[in-house]
Amino acid sequence: MCGIVGYLGKNKAVPVLLAGLHALEYRGYDSAGLAVFDKENVICEKAVGTVTALEDKLVGKKEIGDGLGIAHTRWATHGGVTEINAHPHTDCSNNIYLAHNGIIENYKELREKLNEGRHQFKSETDTEVIAHLIEKIKNENENIPLEEAVRLALGRVQGTYGLVVIDKREPEKIVAARNFSPLIFGLGQDEFIIASDATPIMKFTNKVIYLNDGEIATITPAGYRIQTIEKEVIKRKPEELDWDLESAEKGTFANFMLKEINEEPEAVRNSIRGRINLEEGKAVLGGLADVKEELRNINRLHICACGSAYLAGKVGAYMLEEYAGVPVEIEFGSEMRYRKLIFEKNDVFLAISQSGETADTLASLYEAKEKEILTLGIVNAIGSTASRETDAGVYQHIGPEVAVAATKSFVSQVSILALLTLFLGRKKNMSLVMGQRIAGELQRLPALMDKILTQQDLIKELAEKYSGYDNFLYLGRKYNYPIALEGALKIKEIAYVHAEGYASGEMKHGPIALVDKKFPSIVIVPRDSVYEKNVSNMEELKARGGPVMAVATEGDKDIKQIADDVIYIPKTLEMLTPILSVVPLHLFAYYVAVKRGLNVDRPRNLAKSVTVE
Ligand code: GLU
Repeated sequence: MCGIVGYLGKNKAVPVLLAGLHALEYRGYDSAGLAVFDKENVICEKAVGTVTALEDKLVGKKEIGDGLGIAHTRWATHGGVTEINAHPHTDCSNNIYLAHNGIIENYKELREKLNEGRHQFKSETDTEVIAHLIEKIKNENENIPLEEAVRLALGRVQGTYGLVVIDKREPEKIVAARNFSPLIFGLGQDEFIIASDATPIMKFTNKVIYLNDGEIATITPAGYRIQTIEKEVIKRKPEELDWDLESAEKGTFANFMLKEINEEPEAVRNSIRGRINLEEGKAVLGGLADVKEELRNINRLHICACGSAYLAGKVGAYMLEEYAGVPVEIEFGSEMRYRKLIFEKNDVFLAISQSGETADTLASLYEAKEKEILTLGIVNAIGSTASRETDAGVYQHIGPEVAVAATKSFVSQVSILALLTLFLGRKKNMSLVMGQRIAGELQRLPALMDKILTQQDLIKELAEKYSGYDNFLYLGRKYNYPIALEGALKIKEIAYVHAEGYASGEMKHGPIALVDKKFPSIVIVPRDSVYEKNVSNMEELKARGGPVMAVATEGDKDIKQIADDVIYIPKTLEMLTPILSVVPLHLFAYYVAVKRGLNVDRPRNLAKSVTVE
């Protein structure tokens, strides 16, 4: 997510930093900022919106500053999108400036302690605690160098970070640290450039050093030193960078969609991180804390969404009804906004939208607000309209999704709906044991998803085998009915192949008339409570000569006897199977589109964030 740039060298820092931020723009962000040394002072400028907005603030000032500075593009996770919350952040005395990518999980508790010690916070971010921690350590230990203060501070921090820090009192130094958020620095001619990925670096040099998790680098005009948080000295020689610009942005992936499908396990990890209390079988959803009394008395939940988010909501409806005992209605934003809405006492509205800007969902949200019911959101983009206009909500924390077709945002939304099920269920009549089972299984999911991703070659082969067909029928039942719809939607969107998603049982009420040897079906048939029913439907398809590809549970040899091809997914709780079964279907659609020679990231006629009706 988002980006960091740092520069120490013979040139003026500002133009280098701005060019670096531009190079990182593709990662997505909502605000930008920089801090540069200017003799003994540090100049700090920030802007909401684009890097160009930041640049505009610096017009005529490009000559300012010396050859040392740090810069940041923010994708807000904690605190709204405001200039104050944009990075760099400082300590109370404005000596320390730092830019951070990632999430500090224990920031609340650190902030409280630092508050008691009279530290004054300016922003709402989790990041700012690091600046104050460093300040505190420096105040307590006279003459301690910045890198040592950073090391001690990071020892108290839990979470993920790519971090660059400068200190007014040590004007020739940048300290950089990494934990689960990438950071690289390039070694140019008498200059160093630090960045979240290689894009800003490669114009300067192809000699780079990759920091590993738990490592801190100290960079001065004399050179660099690396140590771990445990103070172990690391000797590392530079490596050669052989990336071109395009590939650096996408890493080793051919395009963003493939990258984002491969990030699906990480997306679930990030969406559930710090939100599960395994011992008590509970979900900890800070964003709902203020409305938990109202939620305890919830009468009915009205979910509103569009596209894939709507299908995520449909999975959620099954979960919430079965495990939390909450009646759910779900509807497209475009329908709900024009319907006569009848809300009852204690009804609650939930908008699901990755961008938080989906026009139809917002229109329905405004209707719900008009009727004065409690409104919630599941949103990825912090500070977006949906996040501001709802009473409470849960952020997805998955970073930007660049490809138009939703992939990682979908699994993230379903995992949050599972958390919501736990949250509401445990307040109602879900037992401790059931809560623990769901919580435990949710935590295992990312590893199970990783396992599915190891089958990419097989899925690619199957996609190539099926890529010549012009029609598909996707079938699933109960929890996997919405996944049949999602699989069909995905292949329509990016491969321009006609596909029908259907509830397996409905197939014989119409679509089976289409089936012949030129009309394949994809059946999602995990070992769940409707397994036998699905198997019968598969038999019916085979009896009509239709080719069948199945998504089934590992170890299920019987399916192999019926289906022509099978993709296996690991076993998990029935309610969580959609998070697994959707992964091969995303990959399948992707590889069919690639085989057909299409631009998967930018499918024709579609937009990422549908801000019009
Ligand atoms: N958690 C930090 C914030 O909300 C950093 C977000 C980022 O990675 O840009 O400001």
